[in-house]
Amino acid sequence: MIPDCYILGIIAFITIIFTTFNPFISAQSQSIPFRVGTEPTFPPFEMPSEDGSGLQGFDIDLMKAIGNEVGLDVQFESMPFDGIIPALQTGSLDAAISGMTITAERGRTVAFSSPYFKAGLAIAVQENNDTIKNFDDLKGLKIAVQIGTTGAMEADKIPNAQVISFDSVVLALQELVNGKVDAVVNDAPVTLFAIKEAGLQGVKVVGELVTEEFYGIALPFNSEKVMLLNYGLFQILRNGSYNQIYQKWFAGEPFVLPLIAPSLIGTTSTDFATNPLNNSNRQSVLSLLIQRLPQGAVVTLILTACSIFFGFIGASFIAFGLISHNPFVKNILRIYVEFFRGTPMLVQLFIIYFGLPAFFQGIGLNWSLERFPAAVIALSLNVAAYLAEIIRGGIESIDKGQWEACEALGMNRLQTLKEVIMPQAFRRVLPPLGNEFITLIKDTSLVAVIGFAELFRQGQLIVASTFQAFQVYIAVALVYLCLTTLSSFAFKWLEQKMNPVAQAKRKSASQNLNLT
Ligand code: GLN
Repeated sequence: MIPDCYILGIIAFITIIFTTFNPFISAQSQSIPFRVGTEPTFPPFEMPSEDGSGLQGFDIDLMKAIGNEVGLDVQFESMPFDGIIPALQTGSLDAAISGMTITAERGRTVAFSSPYFKAGLAIAVQENNDTIKNFDDLKGLKIAVQIGTTGAMEADKIPNAQVISFDSVVLALQELVNGKVDAVVNDAPVTLFAIKEAGLQGVKVVGELVTEEFYGIALPFNSEKVMLLNYGLFQILRNGSYNQIYQKWFAGEPFVLPLIAPSLIGTTSTDFATNPLNNSNRQSVLSLLIQRLPQGAVVTLILTACSIFFGFIGASFIAFGLISHNPFVKNILRIYVEFFRGTPMLVQLFIIYFGLPAFFQGIGLNWSLERFPAAVIALSLNVAAYLAEIIRGGIESIDKGQWEACEALGMNRLQTLKEVIMPQAFRRVLPPLGNEFITLIKDTSLVAVIGFAELFRQGQLIVASTFQAFQVYIAVALVYLCLTTLSSFAFKWLEQKMNPVAQAKRKSASQNLNLT
């Protein structure tokens, strides 16, 4: 156990060293931007400023103050939290400040400044829940977390718990408000801020600071800026700026900070970061890929097949409506098609999954959709709009004379469609239908945002625990490629099978064979 070695003596020591080397600091060029990554949906640490023009929050003020102190031209770059470490690894960021907990695993991949904030996890539950008090009570329950966070890692350790990961903590909390999960495990200051300051209703915190964590500024593993940032941090701790920033965002006095995060004490620096694909790590990435990607691929295929099935049925009705003689039906359906083709699928998904339940709860109805039906509904509604136009085109491409001939034979419109027009039209729409299917396989990756563990999300989860973005996403891309290639073969085969000329050829060939 390390003592809470507060650092005034060490600060004094470092200050002396750096004052001696002051020219080094003033030589830091103000004009070269120092790119600092952050995930800006983590209030009060980072969030969009009120006028939306930039960022604000404790981390933002702190980083600016440190930058001022050491002469760095800090420029913030917003990105998803699980993308920060890969971005530091590739050098596309110079540093990152994002309420990031200093952990031993991360410490093997990136460098950390000295801790700048003491936090810990909290469990949030619905206000009327009296059964959950601590981690033990979460066994076997549904828990929402933010992907790649310490909350997610802690939730993963709970026996039999179903952990659903979201891109931001805001979405995880929304899931709790909508009653779709039993709890959210997340950093205490952020959940408390959401409830107390941002007016999140129907949610309470049980078990505040159930872990002890320290936030640090992350840098590329061999960055020589670590000392500089530490110096800046110590300076603002010493000259009172840190306290001022703390008081601006939190009540009370700041916690005592150790010089080194306890999680890093005792961990040895390995060659892991300089050679990230050392043998044992390569093996664990590989076994994770083998274990998880097939699961994800199956989910992706099921989602696509269900959505194309319902989408096709819906699209057929819409197409019949579009060619009907009723202007009212025609106009309504045209609006439908324009709406679903003219708005992003992601927005449609958010409306169906997060928006509708919130709306119904607002009017006193306790209604919500499970993840799978929500995803299938959103994808089917969208694909139906595209397919409707394709089917309509297919129907209209059949010669008008056939309608007249059927009418002369006494068939009604519906019979004509069913018996004569559709079988021919279906053959004509098969190639574009195949294209839609392939597009849909790729579009299913969008439903990862509602916590659906399909192929892409499985990849993200592997990256969150191994930090091997390149290898993992290449593997994910290859699996998508396999799925799309197989689908295109399947559609080619179907086209061939339904081609009357080829069918006739096959028939006569088999007859010839029988004769001989
Ligand atoms: N402190 C948590 C972590 O490092 C969450 C950080 C965040 O979501 N911005 O994992």
